[in-house]
Amino acid sequence: MNNRFELEKGSRKYICPNCGKMSFVYYRINGNGAIIHESVGRCDRIEKCGYHKKPREWFNEHPTIRPDYKSVKPIPEVTTNPISYIPLKYIDERANTRNSNFVYFLFNLFDWETIKKTIDPYFIGCTEDMAVVFPQIDEQGKCRTAKVQKYDRETGKRQGVYLYHGDKKIKPNLPNPYNLQMCLFGLHLIRSKNNIGKTVCICESEKSAIIAAGCMPEHIWMAAGALDWLNVEKLKPLRGWNIVLFPDTSTTGLAFKKWTKIADEATKAGLLVMVSTMLEDNCTDEEKANGYDLGDYLIDRILNKKQAIEPETPEEEPQAEQYSVSDDLKNMIRLNPAVQMLINNFDAVEVSTTES
Ligand SMILES: [Zn+2]
Repeated sequence: MNNRFELEKGSRKYICPNCGKMSFVYYRINGNGAIIHESVGRCDRIEKCGYHKKPREWFNEHPTIRPDYKSVKPIPEVTTNPISYIPLKYIDERANTRNSNFVYFLFNLFDWETIKKTIDPYFIGCTEDMAVVFPQIDEQGKCRTAKVQKYDRETGKRQGVYLYHGDKKIKPNLPNPYNLQMCLFGLHLIRSKNNIGKTVCICESEKSAIIAAGCMPEHIWMAAGALDWLNVEKLKPLRGWNIVLFPDTSTTGLAFKKWTKIADEATKAGLLVMVSTMLEDNCTDEEKANGYDLGDYLIDRILNKKQAIEPETPEEEPQAEQYSVSDDLKNMIRLNPAVQMLINNFDAVEVSTTES
């Protein structure tokens, strides 16, 4: 009965919903390791921030939500208080500069025209110290927050990170307390007429999403922002869209398992979600140990020019049989040829709708 929730052990830290620094420890549900909500946990900057939201406190604030102890499911995210937003002028100011180290790194992969075409729809910005700003703009065109990420100029490896609503320059102009409800990076792209009918592909990192968008603009690319930031609630604005998830790899396949479970839940909720097995199937053990992701996979193929992903020739008849797809999926393919193309290109699997 005790300790249904525990602060995560170990040295792993996440972004604090209050100060936005990489100093947050989640409470996790014993049994399945799911988080309760991205705001429930403790900030390790005890003096400077002091944020600590206990599970009991959160459940008191959300009386309609009760943890399902028996099946230890992650609890769906709900909004009882109005969601807080960052006025778009702060994002526009940021979007005016394309000088971040991240964009500089993209020059290793793409030409300037491709880079502009790829990054501008995301309103990607830059801070004074060259960190990239990845805004989370929702399906109504409102900005929930932005992830500010420093990358090494040459290697593209991540350095520091924080959430923009915690930035001391804009914080005084934002609601206090700030009711953070994050959304998928790139979610606003479903508002564009040009994107109707495209398949929505979701990676873990914004970097992967952008690189993939540069390579495959025929799809809409979004990012969860972190492994634990994806949940069924965040997928709900995508009802009616074909969705394919691209979890990162690891030695244990943890991300793949977690996201497959979310896809399964989302499918039960009536969404059209599949999970790509491409990375699981094709990455070496060493690559998996390094947490290889879609961005890494594409970078390797662009830079080494090895086995670049072959574009599907439109004349070619879809060969559904050889993938032994179910009738449901066949119907989905008929509705949207992009799904067949994704299966060909990415080994996407249909998510089972039965308990496993
Ligand atoms: Zn904090």
